Amino acid sequence: GPPSDCPPDVEQLGRSSWTLLHSIAATYPKIPTPVEQSQAQQFMGLFSKLYPCWVCAEDFQEFMVKNKVRTESRDEFGQWMCEAHNDVNRKLGKKEFDCSKWEERWRTGWKDGRCD
Ligand code: FAD
Repeated sequence: GPPSDCPPDVEQLGRSSWTLLHSIAATYPKIPTPVEQSQAQQFMGLFSKLYPCWVCAEDFQEFMVKNKVRTESRDEFGQWMCEAHNDVNRKLGKKEFDCSKWEERWRTGWKDGRCD
């Protein structure tokens, strides 16, 4: 049939998933409790197992073995997420994102008012 938005392909799934993941980091506490840190760790571990793209999930789990999730603060979690996303960007030959700007992109909005 003609191009369709459903079911989502790997790209659509990826864009939606990164939106969720960076948004979770953006709303994560600046000073998380041990319970909140443990929940973020568990979520990422399960996410990497359940992610519905088999090759993506396998590589992401490998990344997480070499780069332990950092959940000790919002900034650390956001930076880690950005680095994880950049690892996929590199693999796909996409431009790397400047991780000093992750909060502007995903939490505060760009200083000039645009959103991408
Ligand atoms: P996306 O990469 O989806 O990015 C969306 C927006 O996020 C960008 O427009 C930019 O504004 C912002 N952004 C970009 N980089 C960063 C960053 N480092 N930090 C913060 N914000 C950023 N696809 C495959 O083909 N093979 C794979 O193995 C694969 N593995 C994946 C693993 C995971 C865990 C996820 C969530 C997705 C994976 N994808 C994979 C999908 C892939 O990452 C992209 O989502 C997809 O190719 C669409 O790319 P895009 O150019 O629209 O932008």
